[in-house]
Amino acid sequence: MEIKFNNVGYIYNEKSSLEKEILKDLNLEIKSNQINAIIGKSGSGKTTIIEMINALIIPTSGNIKVDNCFIEKKSKIVNISLLRFNVGLIFEFPEEQFFNKTVEKEIGFGLKTFNYKTDEIKQRISNALKMVGLDDSYLPRNPHTLSNGEKRKVAIASILVFNPKVVIFDEPTVGLDSNSKNNLIRLIKMLKNKYNKTIIVVTQDVDFLHKMADYIFVLSDKKVVLEGDKYQVFSEVETLRKHGIGVPKVIEFSHKVLMEKGIKMGYRDEINDLIKDIYRYAK
Ligand code: ADP
Repeated sequence: MEIKFNNVGYIYNEKSSLEKEILKDLNLEIKSNQINAIIGKSGSGKTTIIEMINALIIPTSGNIKVDNCFIEKKSKIVNISLLRFNVGLIFEFPEEQFFNKTVEKEIGFGLKTFNYKTDEIKQRISNALKMVGLDDSYLPRNPHTLSNGEKRKVAIASILVFNPKVVIFDEPTVGLDSNSKNNLIRLIKMLKNKYNKTIIVVTQDVDFLHKMADYIFVLSDKKVVLEGDKYQVFSEVETLRKHGIGVPKVIEFSHKVLMEKGIKMGYRDEINDLIKDIYRYAK
């Protein structure tokens, strides 16, 4: 599904004394069926960007093409519910919004507004649970009594139940331990590989991002200042630092070895692969 930002600008509180320009002439094109990541310092406009993709906010200039629909100030969006059906947005701490007494009701709540038959609703809920790696035994459970990792999975299932083509995660690792983060990486990769979803992740967690992103957009000074596959982007260590963005620990180590010892180790996704390289060099 095409998602393309064309010269997008966004000003909060436009034409008031509190006016604040966040984005200016921003161009970016999301890569379909890949894991896209948007990184940038806090306040650089990452959340503003993803809220525009499903028209929660409208650009103050330029437009965004999402499939056949243009999101822009001058024209009304013809079918906003179809757009939101296709683009699922999972906010930071989604489980804080739980208000149903069972997992089944929590996941199925959003489907109520559509005229699905009871059997189809059950099937969709069961499929969504399966996609996040939980089985039907969770259906009668109280979502508030689950572990943090399980809560996050149920919150994600409540979006996947609509079968969106695009799934957007806003800071998905906040509040998760390393085991739950690894489960989330597996889930995101499976959504791409098995279910052909386009993924967009907004995060400041560069170690998490490095393990799963395919393509990265770096946001700074109201626009995209760097983009490319993760190896291209993370090889620009000095540029990233200039824009206040850290690099994954595994890259930082390789960079240090290159700078201080003149040894080029290559970039690795996993620390274990890097350790194997070190053994090889040590020999
Ligand atoms: P990020 O996700 O990169 O941290 P945001 O998109 O949330 O950045 O916010 C970008 C900037 O816009 C921040 O400076 C934030 O304070 C400001 N902002 C966000 N929402 C509003 C709002 N409703 N009114 C005014 N300013 C806002």
